[in-house]
Amino acid sequence: RASVGPKYLSGLNPEQREAVETLDGPVLVLAGAGTGKTRVLTTRIAHILSQGRARPAEILSVTFTNKAAREMKHRLGQMLGHAVEGMPWLGTFHSIGGRILRTHAELAQLKSNFTVLDTDDQVRLLKQLLQADNIDDKRWPARMLAGLIDGWKNRGLTPSQVPSGEAAVFANGKGGKLYASYQERLKILNAADFGDLLLEDIRIFREHPDILRQYQQRFKFILVDEYQDTNVAQYLWLRLLSQAPSKPTVPAVIPERIEEASSDVQLHVAESGSEPAMSERAALAAAPAGPTKNICCVGDDDQSIYGWRGAEVDNILRFDHDFPGAKVIRLERNYRSTGHILAAASHLIAHNEGRLGKTLRTEDHDGEKVTVTGSWDSEEEARGIGEEIEQLQRQGEKLNEVAILVRASYQMREFEDRFVTLGLPYRVIGGPRFYERAEIRDALAYLRVINSPADDLAFERIVNVPKRGLGDATVQMLHDHARKRRIPLFEAARAVVETDELKPKARGSLREVVAQFDRWRAQREVTAHTDLAQIVLDESGYTEMWQKDRSADAAGRLENLKELVRSMEEFENLQGFLEHISLVMDRDSGADEDAVSLMTLHSAKGLEFDNVFLPGWEEGLFPSQRTLDEQGRAGLEEERRLGHVGITRARRRAKIYFATNRRIHGTWSTTIPSRFLDELPAANVEITESKGGSAWGGTGGYGASRFDDMEAFGSTYSTPGWQRAQANRNRGGGRTGGGSGGFEEQASTFSSSASSGPDFGSF
Ligand code: ATP
Ligand code: MG
Repeated sequence: RASVGPKYLSGLNPEQREAVETLDGPVLVLAGAGTGKTRVLTTRIAHILSQGRARPAEILSVTFTNKAAREMKHRLGQMLGHAVEGMPWLGTFHSIGGRILRTHAELAQLKSNFTVLDTDDQVRLLKQLLQADNIDDKRWPARMLAGLIDGWKNRGLTPSQVPSGEAAVFANGKGGKLYASYQERLKILNAADFGDLLLEDIRIFREHPDILRQYQQRFKFILVDEYQDTNVAQYLWLRLLSQAPSKPTVPAVIPERIEEASSDVQLHVAESGSEPAMSERAALAAAPAGPTKNICCVGDDDQSIYGWRGAEVDNILRFDHDFPGAKVIRLERNYRSTGHILAAASHLIAHNEGRLGKTLRTEDHDGEKVTVTGSWDSEEEARGIGEEIEQLQRQGEKLNEVAILVRASYQMREFEDRFVTLGLPYRVIGGPRFYERAEIRDALAYLRVINSPADDLAFERIVNVPKRGLGDATVQMLHDHARKRRIPLFEAARAVVETDELKPKARGSLREVVAQFDRWRAQREVTAHTDLAQIVLDESGYTEMWQKDRSADAAGRLENLKELVRSMEEFENLQGFLEHISLVMDRDSGADEDAVSLMTLHSAKGLEFDNVFLPGWEEGLFPSQRTLDEQGRAGLEEERRLGHVGITRARRRAKIYFATNRRIHGTWSTTIPSRFLDELPAANVEITESKGGSAWGGTGGYGASRFDDMEAFGSTYSTPGWQRAQANRNRGGGRTGGGSGGFEEQASTFSSSASSGPDFGSF
């Protein structure tokens, strides 16, 4: 039996096979990077389908990105030898949650065409609420409130459930009330934010057991990738869906936090202060820990990198308590990386205390050592990497197999500039997105108002773009009207033009705007959505506005607008397109082009490339300054896991870089090599010289002499040179990380006040 069976099973090792074939009951695959967890999930779906255990529409399968979902579907087709018709429930938490919410929108006081707000919209809306409440936005920034609300939503908390102590931290105790009025405003705007896509589902499931039962019956199998990065809301959502249907309600029996899970486990939660979240989680899991359906989660505690966004690594560590009778399967063979790469990554992560610890082995050869390269500055670093990539290309490597993984997104610009100069094709994945550019957001705002007339934020964005003489005073007036009569801005505009409240000129323009939107909405019924978009851009005067613009980037903006209309062709209709926009977190541009991938370490999760470049391993950048400023080691351990994720993306080559000088938002500062470099095993690492040699020649300069230092001590590695660097750590800099958001915000608030920049004179 072991060796026979369907073809898709034949390549699997016995443990993987067990994970695939154990279809009944809860299964957890807890295993390291590259051991085939994602492959197991995909094969499992193939197995379920080919065994006839469920139809495609009865499988709920959660991936971390939309791209991963597409990839999984593609692989599935290959395994089964035919394209899989319809897997409507294969996607991210957001996309599946959104799909469910759209179906029952009315139960959340929404219409099914509700808009999904992005962070920008969210902040603008909160700003308005702060203004209305006379709260000083400088003292209590809307962005901070947005961060708090996101955090609450990630933990599954509705406004009434926010602990009062926490609501108190904003605007002298008004946090909770503002959260409540924000939710009210969202309903009026017919909008939801990302958190709502799950939170509203959870509420609906709880308040309407019949609806929940319907989904419980539908989903015969549930599969979840990257389980280590699920947050409490996602956990609750999964848990509700994974109960056997029609369970009579019995009092919740939630196991207390159980220490004996594994005696050698040292959870870092105790220190990170997420203990309250734990009990909350237990309290919120109203569903009894009864028999569960066939849920299979896979993950790796060493790759938990979204703690800053509310992910709870405990979800994976407690799986067998949450899902009693769970079979826990471990995979130990890494199929991805060569020996040196795997050894380096394992050695680095071994410095973390809060981990389960696991064995990983590869039967691959040792391959090339991981390289560490120092440069004078970030520009030289980019130049050097550019040259190495060109060299790889000459050796016949595909650019698709090359990735640059950065810690903070601002690091990307330097590479982009370099690649443009070299004519090296590249794509940015998940970074500062195309859809976030101003002109694209304007165009989208027009389309959003057409799609959903109650979309006030969109309407406000473009009512005076291009300029139509409808200034702040007019908008304020519309707001007053809308608030008084509890109608959308657009309808307020329609009413106002019938009065004489506006000056004739403004009234004329506003009437024209209303008439245009009415016309476009009518046209929508008979015109292809791509044509409609072009018509809207032209008739509104938006295209012309940029054509007349004299600034250097106007041509590029017009190009982007064209690209936007082109990109709409892939969608059936406007609604589908707008939905995609709001959900797409991972953009893939020119998917077919052979190009270098540029992304943050965070977005690289789950991916693999032959060649991986890891620039910027410097104290204050990686690990980030914020984690250095923090008390305790939780943040630092998360950074280390991020480093581990970075190295384990590589199949054949992993190349690490640090620069001695880096310019952050225009200010130079002297930097110190990352402590993580000290933690790499000497036997698997080679110190190499930068290929980006600049004016100072690459030898004899400051960078080069550091370099010699390291080489001299290469065998022991934990060298006086590195030690000295460590001693110097925290000395220079004086940077302040801050803000309430994640690392991207942090990057943008870096204010480097390092005393001295590099002294170019001496070279
Ligand atoms: P990560 O933790 O990084 O997400 P993972 O555990 O999900 O990694 P996969 O991406 O599924 O690992 O697999 C890593 C690589 O190993 C893939 O290229 C996959 O095709 C390959 N692989 C997995 N299992 C096998 C196997 N039994 N035989 C051959 N190749 C395999
Ligand atoms: Mg994976």
